Amino acid sequence: MDHDARYRELVERAGLVEASVVPGCSVFKEDCLAIWAQITGFLDRRLKEKGFTTAYFPLFIPEAEMKKQADHYEGFRKELMVADGLVVRPTSEMVIYPTLKRWISRGVPIKVNQFCSVVRWERLKPNLPLIRDNEFLWQESHTVHATREEAEVMAREMLAVYKELIEGLLAIPTVAGAKPPHRLFPGAEYTLALEAIMPSVKSVQMATSHFLGQRFSRPLDLTYHGEPVWQSCHGVTTRLIGAMVMMHSDARGLILPPRIAPVQVALDGTEDYRETLGPLRTGVVDDPVLKGVPLVLSRGRGLTLTRRDTGEAVPVTEATLPATAARLLEEIQQALWERAQARVPMHAPAEYGEFIRTAQAHHAYQRAGWCGAVNCASAIKQDTGSSLRVTSPGTGQCIRCRAPTDQSAIFAPAY
Ligand SMILES: [Zn+2]
Repeated sequence: MDHDARYRELVERAGLVEASVVPGCSVFKEDCLAIWAQITGFLDRRLKEKGFTTAYFPLFIPEAEMKKQADHYEGFRKELMVADGLVVRPTSEMVIYPTLKRWISRGVPIKVNQFCSVVRWERLKPNLPLIRDNEFLWQESHTVHATREEAEVMAREMLAVYKELIEGLLAIPTVAGAKPPHRLFPGAEYTLALEAIMPSVKSVQMATSHFLGQRFSRPLDLTYHGEPVWQSCHGVTTRLIGAMVMMHSDARGLILPPRIAPVQVALDGTEDYRETLGPLRTGVVDDPVLKGVPLVLSRGRGLTLTRRDTGEAVPVTEATLPATAARLLEEIQQALWERAQARVPMHAPAEYGEFIRTAQAHHAYQRAGWCGAVNCASAIKQDTGSSLRVTSPGTGQCIRCRAPTDQSAIFAPAY
């Protein structure tokens, strides 16, 4: 079985998702939602610290409203579900911003967050549960500012929050950068992104944070003291769970990083130790190995904590249990992080022939100079199947056309 077939089999066998009667739409089951609740709980805390409020906006957007930002509408047009003059939200700018227009009179900045589902009806690529669903869950946050600088700072701050979540909690290494002009969020002035390279050596776009400039505020007439406001928006999706499964699992099942695991210590006939374990998340789990619970506390000849990642059994006493469990959880988190960093090598090819050979061998993703021309990126995609994921500053030559450039780019096939 190839990587994707193994992944599909695992997410179903571990009870995260199952197929539904709707094409390209999965049933997200209890264990999947428990992980999502850990992710949204972290984000909710960080967003509230930054002054965001929570709201829920309608699922539908009048198509006429959506068309007011032409690039935005065009960019999403192929993925829209439309009925009775309403589109099902693929993202919520054009239903949220008309409301923010009223809220501006109470002052800026405005920072609003919602957790919801969105629909992007993918008619060409096959569905892959949690990685590419026609309907999926996400977090989207939107801000309004009086100045360009404040909105740009906000976009960078949100990317940092996502990096903390993805690297610090999910133990998935990311590459940060800007999306090239031909891959911007439709309507954005620029898009910042975190990409992660999976063991299949395919890239997953993990998080995006967009600086919208005044590109929405002008057509929608969102003004503050007579000037169009400056905006940013940001989001992550249930894809994060799919990427975590791809990154951390083995033949026996899932391996959940302790900081995100809904249950950190599975109690196997040891429920009487629940209080001893204090603030750690504990529970009784059927098949904790398949489900990826980081530690199992069992009682044989003596009390034992068994690590999911290594299978190592560590004897404990009632007195040493809480400190040992906490230490092992941190060790597992660290071990998963280190293993993930070592899993997928990055290659820096010296010339285009080497770039093509490496791409064909599928054993590394690549960093190389890029001149900024879309036709160079398209030709590279054509020649190698690798698409340009993100760019960052770096001097050198374009790997394909040899033109001098001040930016480098990450190339990999993508989900
Ligand atoms: Zn070039």
